[in-house]
Amino acid sequence: MEQRALWDEPAQGSSEEAPSSGSTGERTSRVRPGRELSLQQQAATVAPAVSASPPVLASIAVARPVRGEFTYSVPESLVSQLAPGQRVLVPFGRGTALGFYLGPAARPPGENVRLKPIQRVLEDSPSLPKDLIALLRFAAEHYRYPLGEVIRGSLPPGLSKPVDEKEAKPDVQQFAVALVNEVPPSLARAHAQSAALAYLLAVGGSAPLEEVSHAIPGARAHLKSLASKGLVRIEEKKLEAGVKEGLIQGRPDRLTPEQDAAGVTLREALDTGAFQPFLLHGVTGSGKTEVYLRAAEHALSLGKGSLILVPEIALTPQLVGRFRSRFGSEVAVLHSALKDRERLFHWQALRKGEVKIAVGVRSAVFAPVENLGLIVVDEEHDPSFKQDDSLRYQARDLAVVRGKQAGAVVVLGSATPALETLENVKKGRYRLLELKRRVDDRPMPTIEMVDLRQERPRDGMMTDEAPILSPPLLAAMEETLGRGQQVILFLNRRGHSTVLLCEVCGVSLKCTSCDVCMTHHRSQNRVVCHYCGLAMPVPDRCLECTGPMLKLGIGTERVEAEVLERIPTARVARLDRDSATSAEKLTEMLAAFARRELDVLVGTQMVAKGHDFPGVTLVCVVMADTSLAIPDFRAAERTFHLLTQVAGRAGRGKDPGRVLVQTYNPDAEPVKRVLAHDFDGFAQQELEWRKALAYPPFARMASIRLEGEHPEQTASVARHLGNIISRNMPPASVGVRLLGPAVAPIAKIRGKTRWQLLLKGPTHVALAPLLARVEAALVDVPSAVKVVIDVDPGAML
Ligand code: ADP
Ligand code: ZN
Repeated sequence: MEQRALWDEPAQGSSEEAPSSGSTGERTSRVRPGRELSLQQQAATVAPAVSASPPVLASIAVARPVRGEFTYSVPESLVSQLAPGQRVLVPFGRGTALGFYLGPAARPPGENVRLKPIQRVLEDSPSLPKDLIALLRFAAEHYRYPLGEVIRGSLPPGLSKPVDEKEAKPDVQQFAVALVNEVPPSLARAHAQSAALAYLLAVGGSAPLEEVSHAIPGARAHLKSLASKGLVRIEEKKLEAGVKEGLIQGRPDRLTPEQDAAGVTLREALDTGAFQPFLLHGVTGSGKTEVYLRAAEHALSLGKGSLILVPEIALTPQLVGRFRSRFGSEVAVLHSALKDRERLFHWQALRKGEVKIAVGVRSAVFAPVENLGLIVVDEEHDPSFKQDDSLRYQARDLAVVRGKQAGAVVVLGSATPALETLENVKKGRYRLLELKRRVDDRPMPTIEMVDLRQERPRDGMMTDEAPILSPPLLAAMEETLGRGQQVILFLNRRGHSTVLLCEVCGVSLKCTSCDVCMTHHRSQNRVVCHYCGLAMPVPDRCLECTGPMLKLGIGTERVEAEVLERIPTARVARLDRDSATSAEKLTEMLAAFARRELDVLVGTQMVAKGHDFPGVTLVCVVMADTSLAIPDFRAAERTFHLLTQVAGRAGRGKDPGRVLVQTYNPDAEPVKRVLAHDFDGFAQQELEWRKALAYPPFARMASIRLEGEHPEQTASVARHLGNIISRNMPPASVGVRLLGPAVAPIAKIRGKTRWQLLLKGPTHVALAPLLARVEAALVDVPSAVKVVIDVDPGAML
């Protein structure tokens, strides 16, 4: 996850591996951007006027799971058509494959290789702009993933198959425009219509029909009904570049002095047209979004594009809304629910420079924004920027790499920056912009602690837990609700009870195929495994000894029930993955809370995200300890971030906020520091600890994870890979260390045994050769054992 030396370390690694079998082309060494000859130039150099001219050679990434780039010859008829970044059709194996032309091949392949020609060029203008090719190359090498697959994965569906490019163009798009400012009471019974309207209002009052119906299935019909009621207007809009729609809303006339200072610095940086990374460290409610918006405005005035990355769009429609209301159709919103055709459409509009601003989730780091001037990563500390399958990239890190390649200004924004980012500031790699005060000088919320050890019944048994809602917490809730204000209760665990334990033999109920406890979901009247989804009836007796079962460990469901029992008049809803099963439900719940139709929102980390609910003046952390015990070197950091973020939801309106944190570990560092609003102190202490133990940001890591059908076989492959690494370890002075092989913290998931090996080293370069050895050894690993290499891993489980 650490971007410490990402952009100034030469990307290295895969070029020495043995070629994969089944390849037809010949692997070439990398062609570095900047040293390329144009194809015509090269043709001119290598092809003398007379006879036997050597063929013109092209370096191609093939969209197949094979390493490296391949050399193909270019038929004369295609020489003048080729441009780097184009999709081409090439012969591969016994058939053909999609390929990407990267530039002329540096050197001809060996003697006895039969060169094959590129068959066809699939598009006139290249799909991939130059800075993106460089980024994709970097990603393939750094995260050790086949380049052709990396490129294919970055393209919208219409371009990821070996077919000619088609225009996705609906050049007219239907928009729904809200004609009211809130959902009227008349829609109280029409849930679907009210959800559609709520979505529209949340994203700034207007959105393409297409987008709303992706977020809310069936919304097209609901919007039409709303139109017949005069609540919504459906209009057709031509999507054109540079057309401002005059719906600029809510642009504050005056910036706070800190916003202004940050804005001036960013404008100056944008004017230089050179790469410059910044950390925008702004407390919650300090108005970071406005700083992003002004920077994007300035980029636009320079004719440059902007790329805005956010952790999750469904959870923070406000940010999208603000971009859309400021820039109108100049914004492409790239969310995960887009239909293929729409994704392609946005992609092409960006590629052609017709749309200059892209707002999207992590995969948008590959969006082909033309003439990129600004990249923003909002909530840059958020773990969701790391992708956990196929290409395991960290979008925040890649954003910095891309900024370097494109000569763009990069702004990483957060109230709780990642320690990696902070260390980059300390080292002088990133410049620091600070917003220490909230907008309008609103006070930061007061944070108080409730020591649950004191709240426990005195002479109880060991199983007696403190009450879920302690007396001080209940009192605070009642007081807040009495004033007509709202409350958020945060607990990062779903379900009712998280452990079922036999009172007699002490055995807890575990999933039959995973090494985890089953969670009791009372609403479903079942126990559920949160890792594989297995669900079964709640056993009333221990399966081992038939003893009575105790229900321990609280989840959000139990908190919700407790609130209903203790404060029956409160209107309560629960926001977690069990209740927000669709974007529709999620939007409806958030909108209802924003409209103050709910008093209390109980939820997991979904309530901690960047919501801006002015009615919330009390935030309660039901148990701060849940994330402390996780066996991950980032557990303390993650706890600190979550607590700070959720606390930041309090007091964002005109009334001051209050935060109560219940904990069994009042002396734990993250808890103490959150209470003191002491981000710097926490960071300082945590960085010292990381340094002492050589963890990121003071080291680079790679994890090698194994999952196998057979426990013995999996263990033996893990040991085999461990031996390979040990045998090839550089001298101790280099400082590379191997942890493991060891059984993973969760030893079994879905019936598969899990092992892991962790590599730590001073630089990525120090680890790369060992990873290459492991990769080479994978050819002989039995197929029943799946091995994954994760460079800069996000989570350790
Ligand atoms: P952050 O992302 O830093 O937590 P936001 O960007 O959500 O904060 O801003 C908090 C609130 O303050 C929002 O409602 C926003 O519209 C408002 N706001 C931001 N800047 C200004 C300003 N200069 N004047 C008035 N209100 C502002
Ligand atoms: Zn399971």
